Amino acid sequence: MNIIAGQGLAGTVLALTLLERGEEVRVIDNGHRSSSSMVAAGLWNPIVFRRINKSWLADEVIAELESFYPAAEPLLNARFFHPMRIFRKHGNALEARLWAEKKPTKEFSPYLANDGRNPDPAVYKSFEFGHGTVNRAGYVDLPVFLAAARKYFAGKGILAEAEFALPDNADALNNFRFEGKSVKRIIDCRGYKTAESPWFRYLPFGLTKGEVLTVRCKDLNLDEVFNAGFFLQPLGNDLYRMGATFNWSDRDEEPTAEARAELMAKFRKHLNAEVEIISQKAGVRPTVQDRRPLIGCHPEAEKLCIFNGLGTKGVMLAPLFAKVFCAWLFEGIPLPDEVNIDRFRSFLGQESPVVDYPAPRKRK
Ligand SMILES: Cc1cc2nc3c(=O)[nH]c(=O)nc-3n(C[C@H](O)[C@H](O)[C@H](O)COP(=O)(O)OP(=O)(O)OC[C@H]3O[C@@H](n4cnc5c(N)ncnc54)[C@H](O)[C@@H]3O)c2cc1C
Repeated sequence: MNIIAGQGLAGTVLALTLLERGEEVRVIDNGHRSSSSMVAAGLWNPIVFRRINKSWLADEVIAELESFYPAAEPLLNARFFHPMRIFRKHGNALEARLWAEKKPTKEFSPYLANDGRNPDPAVYKSFEFGHGTVNRAGYVDLPVFLAAARKYFAGKGILAEAEFALPDNADALNNFRFEGKSVKRIIDCRGYKTAESPWFRYLPFGLTKGEVLTVRCKDLNLDEVFNAGFFLQPLGNDLYRMGATFNWSDRDEEPTAEARAELMAKFRKHLNAEVEIISQKAGVRPTVQDRRPLIGCHPEAEKLCIFNGLGTKGVMLAPLFAKVFCAWLFEGIPLPDEVNIDRFRSFLGQESPVVDYPAPRKRK
């Protein structure tokens, strides 16, 4: 039996992938008590805007997500996959120039387009550097996806609603039993809470708190995601999700006045429209200092695996890397070095090490 600890995006996608392979799975989750996924906007976007580059492995991860989530919809009897273009306001002249240069190339033409849009000047402030459209983007409604998957797991009798604690030594871990059955492996998918585990706190998580607002805005009439250094994601009925903030020093799930003010200031910088705040949520992203997932088994306890560190891009990364994880477990195909936790083996025994990478260390 495979135990998956945590039913966030990571645990859910991995459980579905393992089940598809006929593996026996138990999913243990504490009712999303510390869930990044339940707060996330669930967006995917192939483009990094600053210098108009493709996001890491964009072609591969997008191909995989475009097959994984639509296939999961009928299985889970729910609708959560929403392809949606991004309406990007260029941030500066360099971005506009690089966009124009790269758009016709073979590499970028599937993703970048010009648009014939004429944004209403009564609603949008000036587009000094122009705007463009990103294709093959969208969002997964994660609360709907997770709720449907939870129901599916419960229906199969494989969901345990409980707090899970890892055994504290290797012997106990190797002899671990669940519901009277021996356990082949435990896969830690507890999101940022894994960073507190004595087993895994040697891994250089660089956790990032994030906040989003839900707002009502009657004048926008958007049917695409608007992005101008922040995003407005249409939810229907004049409601939009607005986000997101990045805070590298706080590690709690409390919404703050600072984040609200930061997001509202961005809104006012780019839009003239009336806006009403409906709600605010905060979560902690399981980000890693080198910005790559954390996959593999613990160097001192081979029954203990990890599928975590999905950072800011869980929706894009989870389907492909769940496949990679299974190919490694069952077919012996080596994990790519970039995601294998073996890259941090030399940190064993340390707590919260700092990696020598040019990772963001911005503090408020
Ligand atoms: C404000 C914000 C906006 C974001 N926007 C996006 C976005 O647009 N696109 C995108 O791809 N990503 C986004 N993310 C990141 C995204 O949330 C993560 O990549 C992803 O959801 C992480 O999933 P996870 O399953 O690893 O962790 P989590 O979602 O945190 O799931 C962990 C689960 O384990 C449970 N758990 C923890 N400890 C225990 C325990 N001891 N026992 C039992 N259960 C336990 C938790 O309650 C939770 O249900 C955003 C995050 C935030 C905070």
